[in-house]
Amino acid sequence: MKMAFTVDVEDWFCSPNLSLSEWADCEIRLEQPVHQILDLLDEYEATGTFFVLGWIAEKRPDLVKEIYRRGHEIASHGYSHRLVYDQSTLEFKADIRLSKDILEHLIGSKVSGYRAPCFSMTDWGLDILIEEGFSYDSSISPNTPNNLYSKFNLSSKVAHSFKIKDHLWEVPLPAIRLGGVNIPWGGGGYFRIYPYRFFYSGARKIIGDKDYFVYYIHPYDLDYDQPQIFNTSWSNGIRRYYGLRDTYAKIKQLLSDFNCMSISKYDPQIGGIH
Ligand SMILES: [Zn+2]
Repeated sequence: MKMAFTVDVEDWFCSPNLSLSEWADCEIRLEQPVHQILDLLDEYEATGTFFVLGWIAEKRPDLVKEIYRRGHEIASHGYSHRLVYDQSTLEFKADIRLSKDILEHLIGSKVSGYRAPCFSMTDWGLDILIEEGFSYDSSISPNTPNNLYSKFNLSSKVAHSFKIKDHLWEVPLPAIRLGGVNIPWGGGGYFRIYPYRFFYSGARKIIGDKDYFVYYIHPYDLDYDQPQIFNTSWSNGIRRYYGLRDTYAKIKQLLSDFNCMSISKYDPQIGGIH
């Protein structure tokens, strides 16, 4: 069974709740977990799409080049990790243009994919992605109770890639319907919280029903010694920090159970529509 494997390349402090000047005072820790992920992908002859934050790419250019050199797809996660709907159209345009320029300069190749910080995509944001030369977005999941996720009213029936605009594909994140609500099933904190067999059975069901699955993880999901600064409430603390020590072994199991690959390999139709 195949799935798309994606990594949002940001560090433990890259939150919209902290300013870029506060980020500058924080220790960059993501190189080790990124290398752990790269080595696991090599071990299972798998590939991934890495949605890299422009700010991180400026600070660790060699890491971005290495990811690309090792056969993976580089895509954009914006520059500053501000939520799309908290920015003006001009601010958003400048943010994604800067990240795309930095990444394309580093790898010497076109960047065509984008994922919004905390999946905060808007309809006008999609139009700007087209203007800035992106050919796909991967920021929308079917309506879930988590209000960090996009405000789109996307039916749980929509689980495969689709043309959300004339010149833009959407690569949606998976959710599963449990007890009348859509529960996110793509990865991140949910991957850490769910026992692996539970996650696995849900992923198998989604792939069986929809023949489509996009997984995501962050480097900080493997960093169990990271400073825990966002522990403001019980539920947020659980979602942000639970199970960090087990993530590496769970990713290894995932790569053994599924044939994982980058979005451009998993779903080649989404490129080259311009
Ligand atoms: Zn992010």
